[in-house]
Amino acid sequence: MSDCLFCKIAAGEIPSTAVYEDEDVFAFRDINPQAPTHILVIPREHIGSVAEIGADNAALAAKCLEAVAKIAEQEHLDSGFRVISNCGPDAGQTVFHLHFHILAGKPMGEKLV
Ligand code: 5GP
Ligand code: ZN
Repeated sequence: MSDCLFCKIAAGEIPSTAVYEDEDVFAFRDINPQAPTHILVIPREHIGSVAEIGADNAALAAKCLEAVAKIAEQEHLDSGFRVISNCGPDAGQTVFHLHFHILAGKPMGEKLV
């Protein structure tokens, strides 16, 4: 999608601090970190949110989660981390390209679930 911020970040058209990349997945540091470690993991191909995952693109979502595990090891998140994907307005999604937040580096506080 030509006007999608995260498509542009994945393509290198907008700078970011990359922490992991392969042919399908790109991961970079959040510009407004909510924890000492705050990384966004995205598929290079545009998927709007978790709500748009289906049989045709589920493998890409799985690759994102595989990357989460690799990043956790690479970043030495040995004491734990939280993975969040906001989907739609009630969840507060602000960028409509599927992304998984990795939050770590401090106790995460109150749990929603
Ligand atoms: P959401 O609110 O959709 O779950 O998450 C979007 C995230 O993208 C937010 O945490 C926000 O700080 C981050 N973000 C928005 N614009 C940029 C940007 O230009 N660069 C980076 N690195 N992160 C961004
Ligand atoms: Zn996109």
